[in-house]
Amino acid sequence: MSENLMDKVVSLCKRRGFIFQSSEIYGGLSNTWDYGPFGVELKNNLKRAWWRSSVHEREDIFGMDAAILMHPKAWEASGHVKNFFDLKSDCKSCKKRFKTADLKDKAKCPECAGLLTEARPFNLMFATHQGPVEEEGNLIYLRPETAQGMFVNFLNILDSRHPKLPFGLAQIGKAFRNEITPGNFTFRTREFEQMEIEYFTHPSNADKTLEEWIDYRFSWYLGLGMKNENLRKRPHSNDELAHYAKACTDIEYNFPFGWSELEGIANRTDFDLKQHSEVSGKDMRYFDDATKERFYPYIIEPSGGVDRSVLAFLVDAYHEEKVKDDLRVVLRLHNDLAPTKAAVLPLLRNRPEIVELAKKISGDLKKSFVCAYDDTGAIGKLYRRQDEVGTIYCVTVDVQSLEDKQVTVRDRDTMLQERISIEKLKEYLIEKLETVL
Ligand code: ATP
Repeated sequence: MSENLMDKVVSLCKRRGFIFQSSEIYGGLSNTWDYGPFGVELKNNLKRAWWRSSVHEREDIFGMDAAILMHPKAWEASGHVKNFFDLKSDCKSCKKRFKTADLKDKAKCPECAGLLTEARPFNLMFATHQGPVEEEGNLIYLRPETAQGMFVNFLNILDSRHPKLPFGLAQIGKAFRNEITPGNFTFRTREFEQMEIEYFTHPSNADKTLEEWIDYRFSWYLGLGMKNENLRKRPHSNDELAHYAKACTDIEYNFPFGWSELEGIANRTDFDLKQHSEVSGKDMRYFDDATKERFYPYIIEPSGGVDRSVLAFLVDAYHEEKVKDDLRVVLRLHNDLAPTKAAVLPLLRNRPEIVELAKKISGDLKKSFVCAYDDTGAIGKLYRRQDEVGTIYCVTVDVQSLEDKQVTVRDRDTMLQERISIEKLKEYLIEKLETVL
């Protein structure tokens, strides 16, 4: 893979309405991105697939949606106020700021060769004030991870759902980190979305449970069509573990800019529940009826990034091929992820009966899955357009359709075409799509 591939994906995202630079008309807010019409469908499909595999298909996990704003004490308890730092170095000449860990020469600016300051800690949490008065007592943070919203609700879940160990909580939501060096398109941004599971288990089962979750999450990416050779597991060495973790393995993707983290799966031990118990004064231990044991469960946390996954799936699905003198660009997205499942295209847009029939068919399909209608070009152009955004089936209505009540269905990946009766079309597509719509 090459940097060139990244440029192609970024360009496709803008050209076809997947991802735009935020506030572009004002020159853009750097490293902040907006999802356009296809982007939001893809992102929602990805989140839905995660929710299905993490919550709906399991008996042992409950969904949650905690607020972004939390009591400031939660971030003291979690260790984020004290420990959520990156070391930064500033250039005394050009004033640029760098993450010290990224610098080869810790004393010299990589851009202008000026002198760098000593490395200084920089807290990554965005702070603001709650209410109209800006004073110390009103300081509040935008959450840097969704996890804490689940830990602070541990007792509420025990009291309302009475689960037995092991069980988990799952949530998808925004997180904010004032990253020193964001970049690589949507890979590292200051505002992003996480999908996190907090899985509570007896400490004696934690090591085994960690391994199980690493495998479960790895196969989730494969199940959605990600290429095996572009995925790998990378266990953390002891010196890179976060302050709360005993062990962690990253699932990495082979991005055009190198192997990089998609998701981290960590053994957070009993750190969080113990800390919240201590700071809040509430006993957050779990009581086992059978053994009469009262203890802090260990937490296994698979923590993935929505935006990073979307980017990885886009890169993985991008495909180019020469067709005669033309370059065909196809997004070979998995059926569950493709923003549009089918597009209905009239072969002749100046024939009102054909247009009317095509609109009727698409109107009917829209009730079952995301279906587009397009009559703004010649058929070859319409196919290319749908291929570029990953539409799985193109349904063409032609003159003969008026007679034989059949349409042509074209498969995105094989480009094979089949005549299907209009009456059976929806059933045919649903069966082919094999997706939970
Ligand atoms: P990194 O080492 O890349 O900074 P991290 O180890 O700090 O990531 P975690 O705290 O484990 O990340 O967060 C879990 C997941 O959240 C990451 O695997 C990633 O997918 C996503 N994530 C974290 N920070 C960002 C960010 N700045 N932009 C986009 N996604 C992010």
